[in-house]
Amino acid sequence: MIASMMTILIVMTLDGPGDQGARPQAARASASEVIAKVLDAHGHVGPWAVVGYRMGQRALEDLHLPRHSKSLSVVHYTPLQFKFTCAADGLMAVTGATPGKMNIRLEECPISDLRTVVADRSTGRVLTFKILPERAHELAGVAPTQLDAMSRRFADLPDEAIFSVTETKTAPTLDRSSERILP
Ligand SMILES: [Zn+2]
Repeated sequence: MIASMMTILIVMTLDGPGDQGARPQAARASASEVIAKVLDAHGHVGPWAVVGYRMGQRALEDLHLPRHSKSLSVVHYTPLQFKFTCAADGLMAVTGATPGKMNIRLEECPISDLRTVVADRSTGRVLTFKILPERAHELAGVAPTQLDAMSRRFADLPDEAIFSVTETKTAPTLDRSSERILP
């Protein structure tokens, strides 16, 4: 009897809030912190910049990399139009990737190929983020007066309600022991 109760307790513990999986959700910035960080990096707050922030936040968690890691490489594939490009500044704000470090860049593509690719150059792990079609549709129709409310909404939604993530693997291009770009 006691043994079976203990089993139930253990199962409850594993299923409960103690099981954080691989992603340290507790360390995440709150929605208002996300808004403040996007404002600081980007000069205004818009939902696309927040989407970029959220993708970058998830990438650091999944790749187990700290902000400003030299292993990071970020490429935002986007039409060269404001709002879609705004995501890059959200990505910069959270990942610490910068043009000066040459580890974030824009690549022009049609809207149908809009995506963000974040790689760990020391392991070759590559994460591709795509906004969900229903969220892109929602943002396409947003009025200027709704930008603040929509930004807050996107700062608060669960990852899975904003974007999909797929992982692929490529050859490492960075030697982490010396942080040297491999030939
Ligand atoms: Zn913007």
